[in-house]
Amino acid sequence: MAISIPLRKRLKLNAVATGVSMLAMLWIGVFSKHFQNLAADANGARQDVTNISILLQENVRRSISDIDRTVRYLRHIIESSRSPVDLNDLVNSPEILSELIVQVAIIDEGGIMRATNAGPQPAPPTDLSDREHYKFHMQSTSDDLFISRPMIGRASGKISIQLTRGIRGLDGSFGGVVVASFDPTHFEKFYGQLELGAGSSFSVIGLDGTVRAAGGNGTPHFRVGQDITGDALKSHIDASTDEVFIKGDAPGGERRLFSVRMVPGHPLAVSVSIPESVVYADSRNSLEVTLAVALVLSVLIAVAVWQARKSEIQRETNARQLKIALEHMTHGIMMVTRDSKVPIMNRKCIELLDLPASYESQRPQFDETLRMLEQRGEFGNEPLSPNVRGIDVSGPIQGTGAFESYERVRPNGLVLEVRTTRLDDGSFVRTFSDVSSRHRAHAKAEKLASEDSLTGTANRRVFSQALSRLASDDIEPGSGFAILSLDIDRFKTINDTMGHGVGDQLLQQVAQRLKQSLRPQDIVARLGGDEFAVLLSAICDEQAPATVAGRLLDVLSRPYDIESHRLMITVSIGIAVSKKDGESESELLIASDLALYAAKTAGRDTYRFFSKEMNEQIKARQSLETDLRQALVNGEIEVNYQPCINLRTEALVGFEALARWTHPKKGPIPPDKFIPVAEDTGLILLLGEHVLREACRQAQQWPVDINIAVNLSPLQFAHPGLAFLVESILVETGLSATRLELEITEGLLMRNTELTVATLHRLKALGIRIAMDDFGTGYSSLSYLQKFPFDRIKIDRSFVNQLSDTINSSAVIRSVVNIAASLGMETTAEGIETVEQLASLRALGCDHGQGYLFSRPVSQADISSIVAKWSTRMLAAAE
Ligand code: C2E
Ligand code: CA
Ligand code: CA
Repeated sequence: MAISIPLRKRLKLNAVATGVSMLAMLWIGVFSKHFQNLAADANGARQDVTNISILLQENVRRSISDIDRTVRYLRHIIESSRSPVDLNDLVNSPEILSELIVQVAIIDEGGIMRATNAGPQPAPPTDLSDREHYKFHMQSTSDDLFISRPMIGRASGKISIQLTRGIRGLDGSFGGVVVASFDPTHFEKFYGQLELGAGSSFSVIGLDGTVRAAGGNGTPHFRVGQDITGDALKSHIDASTDEVFIKGDAPGGERRLFSVRMVPGHPLAVSVSIPESVVYADSRNSLEVTLAVALVLSVLIAVAVWQARKSEIQRETNARQLKIALEHMTHGIMMVTRDSKVPIMNRKCIELLDLPASYESQRPQFDETLRMLEQRGEFGNEPLSPNVRGIDVSGPIQGTGAFESYERVRPNGLVLEVRTTRLDDGSFVRTFSDVSSRHRAHAKAEKLASEDSLTGTANRRVFSQALSRLASDDIEPGSGFAILSLDIDRFKTINDTMGHGVGDQLLQQVAQRLKQSLRPQDIVARLGGDEFAVLLSAICDEQAPATVAGRLLDVLSRPYDIESHRLMITVSIGIAVSKKDGESESELLIASDLALYAAKTAGRDTYRFFSKEMNEQIKARQSLETDLRQALVNGEIEVNYQPCINLRTEALVGFEALARWTHPKKGPIPPDKFIPVAEDTGLILLLGEHVLREACRQAQQWPVDINIAVNLSPLQFAHPGLAFLVESILVETGLSATRLELEITEGLLMRNTELTVATLHRLKALGIRIAMDDFGTGYSSLSYLQKFPFDRIKIDRSFVNQLSDTINSSAVIRSVVNIAASLGMETTAEGIETVEQLASLRALGCDHGQGYLFSRPVSQADISSIVAKWSTRMLAAAE
């Protein structure tokens, strides 16, 4: 599918992963900075406590040394003086006063204070022999500075520490103690100047474990006078090394950073400490700030990630919807970017182009796909046209927003409509539609348009195209062509009497036989109705069309079985040969039509080549048509009557009405000429009605025993109103139906329909007699006689003609007479010209006879004399 899934995944990872990594970096940064800060704080604090402790150490060392110097000075004066020294003067001498020393005192060997600068000697003098320093010096053999525990001065009431040295006599004996008291708060003041920060604390501790001085910023860690034996600090002091260490008190208690240093030359150590909480206060503070900032940043990042994710989800939804939309498209679609990438391609596209299934997930560059398709032979051998490429990657972008469309037939026969729309950024969108079925429909429509829907042969358009193509070609000798115009004889009658369904099937079978009888390169077309045309190409000689026409006449005249009917037809064919009979398409078509006309006129069931004279004949025939039409209007058609004689009694039994036309210019025209024209043109309906009416009108005036016979054309039978017409003419003329006889030809029954038989029955029911005319001429067989109970059979004159020549004729006539008798029908022999014929027919048992022997057809005016003559003969015979 179009949207590349890896890309989507990458997008999804990006927003969340970027957020998470940003957060991780942020927090790692925050904490690593914090640990850095902690380390820096720890280092700084170590440095600070160390520095402060060094300063304090130095201050303590110097202070103690200063006081010691005073002590040793006083002792020196006392020890080195030869005479007794005024001790009061000595202790009050200004040299010994300093800000460190609160008080100096001289104690004698007995422990009695001999002098002090704190005021005059009390009385009794103060006994200090119980003091620690007195005891220490009295017992000691070495000259050590003694630093007392802090104590509350008996005179001052203040805390002080005594620094004492023993006095030696000249003999080395104990001579007393020099005491210098100093105020330990001196160190507090000093320490106060150093500003180590909140919670910091210092102490000056004797190596004996007793705190000599203490102070700090806040509550000091140790109290002055406290014995720290057992405290962790004491073990560090015992180790007498300068150290920095962390000391944790009781569980849950405060941890502090300590620096402990030994005061050189004195039994003292100094310690400076700060609480760990203070050590890391900066870090903690900055951590708090950083945390706040980091939290805010985290929230911002989270919001940003959430937003990004939201729009990603939106994008994914859009992409999913797009995917669904694309997958449900009936067209193939793809998008190609300016750099030939294919970000979108739906399944239909892959399917229509037969691309590998891998294209759904991963698509190569468009160029590459084109090359692959080209190699596969998708575009044939021709070089790729620019519109297949769709985009000229190197050139400027042209035709933005415009689309172009073309159709392409794939090697598998699929017809694709390819539509390309260019976009602003130089990419393009291309759709593929399968228009194969449209093409097939188009081809089918084209086929339908070119063929006759009923018979499947070519139609007039295709025929005339083929003809004009052949006619316009420069034809080489021996490759001429011919047109056969072909028409089914009296098709209209078949169609009218048997129904269009039968007519259509007949046309289909005729077309079928035509196609089967011709070469594939010949074209058969139905030009309309029962009119067919055949185009014979590349004919070798002039006789070839005649051979073909003869074959067609034969093939088409064989019986057809349609809907339980067995039909037989004949056709007429007109032939026109290229060059000889015309140059152009229309000349040749007219020529073949004229030849067809000639074949029809010649009696049908035949073919005719075109000849120049035909033009004349056709003209004559055409004018005959026009004239006949006019003749009916002008009343030029008259009726003649031929008597019909009872052969046994020689009585006049009736007349047969026969149409006569005397053309105003051409004179009399025989019925054999104009009746077929009337039938072809449909004028027979008018003509027949005219003859019937006229004959009935005349007969009504004749003696009542004289009947009238009228010929009816099959076309008249095809007309549904025939029975009604006959009936109304009888009413109109007042002629009795029993005096009317209607003659029909057997051809009518050959194309029989129920309608014909029904009409015949209706007429017979009126009392009209029905005669079968021209019996024995057509394909008629005796079986036709069983289809309808005829009253009369008229034996065709061709049999009568041949009576004297062949025995065969008389045999036929005899059998007809016998059958007629057995079926209760009468017989009439036609065309009796000789007395011999008359005698034979009489002997054969024919009932009635007609012929020139008795009389030619006569005009109505001659009827009365004929009637008179025959009654006379009757009388003569009777007499
Ligand atoms: P058809 O019905 O067989 O009429 C008899 C024809 O034989 C008539 O020719 C008549 O003149 C001719 N004929 C009579 N006796 C002899 C003879 O002894 N020898 C010879 N050689 N011929 C004889 P016609 O009048 O020329 O009519 C020809 C055909 O025209 C008729 O043959 C009939 O089929 C048709 N026809 C004439 N009038 C009408 C009409 O009013 N309606 C229809 N439907 N057909 C008609
Ligand atoms: Ca007749
Ligand atoms: Ca006849």
